[in-house]
Amino acid sequence: MTARILVVDDVPANILLLQTRLSAEYFDVVTAENGLQALKACAEQAIDVVLLDIMMPDMDGYEVCERLKADPETAHIPVVMVTALDQQSDRVRGLRAGADDFLTKPVDTMQLLTRVKSLVRLKNLSDELRLRAATSRTIAITTLLTGAEEAARQPSILLIDEREGSAACLSASLEGWATIKHQSDPQTGFFDAVEGQCDLVMVATGFKNYDPLRIIAQLRSIERTRFTPLMLIANPEETDVVTRALELGVNDYVTRPVEPQELKARITTQLKRKHFHEGLRASLTETLQLAITDPLTGLHNRRYLEGHLQTLFDRAVKRGAPLSLMMMDLDFFKQVNDRHGHDGGDAVLREFAQRLRRNVRGMDLACRYGGEEFIIIMPETDQRTARQVAERLRAAIEASPFPLGPGKPDIDVTVSIGVSSLGEEQETTNSLLKRADMALYSAKENGRNRVIDDAA
Ligand code: GH3
Ligand code: MG
Ligand code: MG
Repeated sequence: MTARILVVDDVPANILLLQTRLSAEYFDVVTAENGLQALKACAEQAIDVVLLDIMMPDMDGYEVCERLKADPETAHIPVVMVTALDQQSDRVRGLRAGADDFLTKPVDTMQLLTRVKSLVRLKNLSDELRLRAATSRTIAITTLLTGAEEAARQPSILLIDEREGSAACLSASLEGWATIKHQSDPQTGFFDAVEGQCDLVMVATGFKNYDPLRIIAQLRSIERTRFTPLMLIANPEETDVVTRALELGVNDYVTRPVEPQELKARITTQLKRKHFHEGLRASLTETLQLAITDPLTGLHNRRYLEGHLQTLFDRAVKRGAPLSLMMMDLDFFKQVNDRHGHDGGDAVLREFAQRLRRNVRGMDLACRYGGEEFIIIMPETDQRTARQVAERLRAAIEASPFPLGPGKPDIDVTVSIGVSSLGEEQETTNSLLKRADMALYSAKENGRNRVIDDAA
């Protein structure tokens, strides 16, 4: 993982310390000795995470953080406040200023790297989402990025902790902020995590006869919980356990005594990450959906038709089942555009698609093939039936005038339809399309508003 980290501190020795440790992990480190320099660096360079000292002359860390979070250009950059130990009030103020996480001085190397990596991952996800929001019309992504959805609901957390005192303490520190389900038996806890709908799982060390790393390994190896945020609660001296837990895929850890503000900040980061991940997946599905859908009518587009026709064709040939195809073209559509404008034409196309949907079965595939040309593929349908369906559709178009919208007239529309059905010899999808096209041409030649099939 490589990322650009901005280290802000007025004491050069402190900067050097963090810089050395981060550089050793191949992070690209940028430094600033005061608030103004920090703001400038964030505005001008692509910073991924800011490590921010609080006590600085002129402008302190809180103000730097507030300014970063208030500017839409920099609001998405995660900020880690570096606070002095035992300064609970500092952290609360930091959170109010919009800080994403805390580190305490003297900074522990493992904590530093875990937090920074965790926030870099989060930043990468939010960058990807912001990019998509900029290029697509999806409103969902924008809501996702503002966090409006998450904020509305309390997170549900499963706590697997055998020590009653520790569990009570953790539950109390999240009281009113999250819904906690506590499970003291590790194996039952594991099943709860797999079966349940919790947003995050916390595993606490200190079982009498059980290795907490086992739960972590199990949860990471199972499909359903592979991406569930996992947090380890450990004692300060359990560095080996923490290291191994991180290797096994735990997302973050906190050490006892657990500080409520810090725990909440870390949970929030993990929940955001989960939320972004899910959003990205949904957006991918939507992108795929858009790629095969015609935006005007909501029908499948030509690209989809061409791929899917082959599948339906092969299946029909293999089973010796019938298959028919209907090619349609609106009559005198150019006139609609000429008389009622392009919007009028679009309204007709939308209404036409509606009537199409109402007149075909679920297994039939309706597509917009081109401007005012549509195709329906009908599996398990022989020529006689296909003709009947086509005739019913033709009548449904002619039956009632098309509305063009408020304040505009309703107009009569008709359609010409060519039908082709799977023949016996040398048939291909192309020959099927070609015969439907020829039948359609013939329907136009013979006066329009009619159905002609490839037997004619
Ligand atoms: P025919 O009965 O022979 O089919 O006559 P026609 O006027 O329907 O045929 P033609 O193919 O000459 O005209 C089709 C018109 O459809 C031309 C084009 O501007 C219009 N068109 C194509 N796509 C769209 C669209 O998305 N929206 C609108 N409003 N018009 C479109
Ligand atoms: Mg036409
Ligand atoms: Mg045409």
